[in-house]
Amino acid sequence: MIPAAFDYVRVSSLSQAIEFLRDNPDGAKLLAGGHTLLPALKLRLASPELLIDIGSVAEIKGIEIGETHVKIGALTTHSELAASEPLNEIFPIFRETGSVLADPQVRNRGTIGGSLANADPAADWPAVVLALRAKIQIAGATGPRFVPAEEFFLDIFSTALEPDEILASIQIPKPKAGTRYAYRKIRHPASGFAVVGIAIAVRTSDGVVDEASIGVTGATNHAFVGKEASEFLTGKVLSQDNIDEAARILGENTECLSDRYAPAEYRANLVRVELRRALLELS
Ligand SMILES: Cc1cc2nc3c(=O)[nH]c(=O)nc-3n(C[C@H](O)[C@H](O)[C@H](O)COP(=O)(O)OP(=O)(O)OC[C@H]3O[C@@H](n4cnc5c(N)ncnc54)[C@H](O)[C@@H]3O)c2cc1C
Repeated sequence: MIPAAFDYVRVSSLSQAIEFLRDNPDGAKLLAGGHTLLPALKLRLASPELLIDIGSVAEIKGIEIGETHVKIGALTTHSELAASEPLNEIFPIFRETGSVLADPQVRNRGTIGGSLANADPAADWPAVVLALRAKIQIAGATGPRFVPAEEFFLDIFSTALEPDEILASIQIPKPKAGTRYAYRKIRHPASGFAVVGIAIAVRTSDGVVDEASIGVTGATNHAFVGKEASEFLTGKVLSQDNIDEAARILGENTECLSDRYAPAEYRANLVRVELRRALLELS
């Protein structure tokens, strides 16, 4: 439980952090909340030569409510997301998800940027940013670029970030009036991570679904959009039969992971059950 030796530098700007990353392409790691990285260092699952502490970089902190978008800085903690009144007035799913993520200690230190960049297949925020059709703002030496959340998660612990890039913010288009949200999660009893987690955004007019967007985590190597189930729901009423069919479609299109706690077949059943429950909450 003792990490290998490393150098440590605390930076105050994104450009400084990018410079350190570029100068140490193989040996540097960014440190945000540390609630994933520090345990990994202690277990020697990671042994970087240099830790670049970005915790003081003011330009990637906080929540801005703009005209057309909401911008969430990468360093915003899970607790800040759950507690922000202006954010939850628009997207109450941040309170719903933030309050079931880990425990208060982790929520007070862990950041949304760290969670998304780490891309744990069982992390909660990836499902939410997918359901909200967010864009991920990435800072690098050649300037910022934006990647749709749907293209950001590539594989287990793997994202569209290059080694010398930093996740700077999450930008979410403001929803049309009447959009409603749900996040449902089956918690792993030991870690609290999602065995399966489903985030959903649905807008109905006169009882008929105009738009539906489903983000799924925990089930496969990386979080993904339940496109076929969302398409099925569009133009339909949220009746018991349609909800059951959407759940069946999502289950059928999900190649589930298998582990000692949850074999693939059990996980696929959780995917169906949790989507059904989420949709029933919104019907
Ligand atoms: C006991 C425990 C229970 C947990 N339970 C849950 C849970 O139920 N659900 C859940 O979703 N998570 C859970 N977590 C994970 C937690 O949410 C972490 O805080 C989060 O995954 C990582 O955020 P961080 O800010 O701590 O990142 P760090 O640990 O500092 O960094 C994690 C990784 O991301 C990289 N990184 C960090 N910030 C950036 C950035 N801005 N740009 C590019 N790369 C970056 C780092 O280099 C590192 O590789 C749990 C953690 C613990 C210890």
